[in-house]
Amino acid sequence: MTVTFADILGAAQRIKGVADATPLVPSPFFSALAGQEVLLKLENMQPIGAFKLRGAFNAMATLPEGVTGVTCCSTGNHGRGVAFAARQRGLRAVICMSRLVPQAKIDGIRALGGEVQIVGDSQDDALAEAQRLVAEEGLVEISPFDDPAVIAGQGTIGLEILQARPDVRTLLVPLSGGGLAAGIAVAAKAIDPAIRVIGISMERGAAMFESLKAGQPVEVEEVPSLADSLGGGIGMANKLSFPLCRDLLDDTVLVTEEEIYRAMQTLFYEDRIVAEGACVVGLAALQSGKVSAGDGPVATIITGRNLDMNLFARIMSGQEIELGTYTVKGQVYDA
Ligand SMILES: *Cc1c(COP(=O)(O)O)cnc(C)c1O
Repeated sequence: MTVTFADILGAAQRIKGVADATPLVPSPFFSALAGQEVLLKLENMQPIGAFKLRGAFNAMATLPEGVTGVTCCSTGNHGRGVAFAARQRGLRAVICMSRLVPQAKIDGIRALGGEVQIVGDSQDDALAEAQRLVAEEGLVEISPFDDPAVIAGQGTIGLEILQARPDVRTLLVPLSGGGLAAGIAVAAKAIDPAIRVIGISMERGAAMFESLKAGQPVEVEEVPSLADSLGGGIGMANKLSFPLCRDLLDDTVLVTEEEIYRAMQTLFYEDRIVAEGACVVGLAALQSGKVSAGDGPVATIITGRNLDMNLFARIMSGQEIELGTYTVKGQVYDA
């Protein structure tokens, strides 16, 4: 089982008019900073506020007849996508999440008619609950990243970027379970294997990064992060997103909470965009110099906007942020 370019073209047809065609806009500020044109793919403009609708909608569209309900584990945005797509098909959706998931994400899923189950302290605990629902209640599980239809759906982002701008040479992709990076890499490498695809995670709890380093899926401790949507493991039984990321990504890079904080401020004050911490890791990597722009236009994916607005206001006003036992020092933005 794998994901092909043809699967991504198929997904692009299925999601048409629902989860496609988000804007791709230049960032004058980050372009000047990087010395190359920097383009932002605005997945924060999706109807659920994040790109995960692409994969969830594609997976829902390929379910067999007779399914009455679906379930998944989620750090929030996949659950939103599944709830949205399930409602359109008239299916029940039970979203399993750990206690680390912010309240704003839980509220968002309930508002879409999804049932929420809070279990344990990690994505692994949430996954175990989803698997119990599959076994005991006959629901169908839709993995947030380790499902061919989900990966193909996320891959349509790469397709859209390169259809609009075939001259893009580097794609900076936020990396958690790797469904997004795997799908984008399948699309990009099919179009031109020389296009660089770089996965970026936060230093605190980077499961895919550690797994790639170890050569197999490993568990990492899940801790609070400004990039909460990038939290969680990749699944010890990972079948698809791990091998695809291993084979197709050119590099993986980690950024600190302080770099995420600054990139969130910069994206807001310079480009007036409200984004989650998870979305700005590509910009944080450019801003910190951890990734160089290379020899042509760079695109990064602004993956979502679903964050607590009190937290956002605190960061924008330069206040310090407590993440469990870790404190991100406050810093007022200065251009
Ligand atoms: C899920 C998510 C990601 C990461 O996607 P993966 O497929 O798990 O790597 C990045 N940003 C946001 C906002 C997300 O919700």
